[in-house]
Amino acid sequence: MEINCDDHLNKIADLFCDTEVDFEELAKSVKKILLAIGEDPEREGLQDTPKRVAKAYDELLSGYRADPKKLINNALFDVAYDEMVIVRDIEYYSMCEHHMLPFLGRAHVAYIPTNKVIGLSKIPRIVDMFSRRLQVQERMTRQIAEFIDAVLEPAGVGVVVEGMHMCSMIRGVKKHDSRMTTSAMLGVFRTQMGTRMEFLNNISRGAQSLHF
Ligand code: ZN
Repeated sequence: MEINCDDHLNKIADLFCDTEVDFEELAKSVKKILLAIGEDPEREGLQDTPKRVAKAYDELLSGYRADPKKLINNALFDVAYDEMVIVRDIEYYSMCEHHMLPFLGRAHVAYIPTNKVIGLSKIPRIVDMFSRRLQVQERMTRQIAEFIDAVLEPAGVGVVVEGMHMCSMIRGVKKHDSRMTTSAMLGVFRTQMGTRMEFLNNISRGAQSLHF
């Protein structure tokens, strides 16, 4: 798919423009990793692993080449509504860019429309677009907020993301229960304490803790 990176929306989505996933090169690299760790890439269980891993990466990192136009297509509505819209507990799966290990959790998104609202099912897809990349949770949180801000031009956007990071859970200090919360507050979510509190109270109410 050709992505026009001069396009305003594509710029905000921070896409990869002129590249495609090179499956062959990716599979070759995985085979090299197998050799480097002392494995035998020819043994039965590993024969197709490089190809499988290449496919898996393509899927896990598909957010770089998502089409934001398609994603919000026909889902923007002119509505005279100026109360807070909240979508909470959006599951996401991402990959930490430091270790290329998964981090996952839930995102909570809120905005106060001025005259445009977006179909509710689209917000999780916006989260997917930014989570299916090599990420740090802080940047992902900000990107989600800024994208919604650009598309809807709302009075404000709030995004809170909770994440469990495999890189700290299964290696290093092995903090099995370490979770991180990040937030991005724009517009009235930044300037008005009451608005921010309404959002934060809502998402903490009845929230289940993250479990495996
Ligand atoms: Zn990491």
